[in-house]
Amino acid sequence: MRVGFGYDVHQLVEGRKLILGGVTIPSSKGALGHSDADALCHAIGDALLGGAALGDIGSHFPDSEERFAGISSLLLLKEIGNLISDNGFKISNIDSTVILEQPKLMPYIQEMQRNIAESLGLVDSQVSIKATTSEKMGFVGQGEGVSVFASVLIEEDEI
Ligand code: MG
Repeated sequence: MRVGFGYDVHQLVEGRKLILGGVTIPSSKGALGHSDADALCHAIGDALLGGAALGDIGSHFPDSEERFAGISSLLLLKEIGNLISDNGFKISNIDSTVILEQPKLMPYIQEMQRNIAESLGLVDSQVSIKATTSEKMGFVGQGEGVSVFASVLIEEDEI
């Protein structure tokens, strides 16, 4: 068994959508980025790549490449899932925490969980998504950004 850890942060600005776990969340500010700026998918993707020692999301999907502009990060996650299995691993479980001051994410968690599970060929119970605020402190607390931590467990797949 191997563990992987991932972290991502995106700036929140007016005029962008806030997409987390493939769900568009009604919000006055959205996440700035080259892709759809889905920090949850990015942190989970980085954790998976890290567990398999396959580099990071930036090395696989550089933001200098036009083909990744505005792309759904669920598709990137699906590609990462394929990379993981091509390298002889299967995913045991994913745990993550989204840190965002507002809006409250509770109503969207289940849909995010389903989207991420689906893109990685997992069942919902293998994907945990938690949400918290930063208690008004720091860049997240001031509404300037969203950050996400993720950890995963992967296993060598015995075929
Ligand atoms: Mg990112």
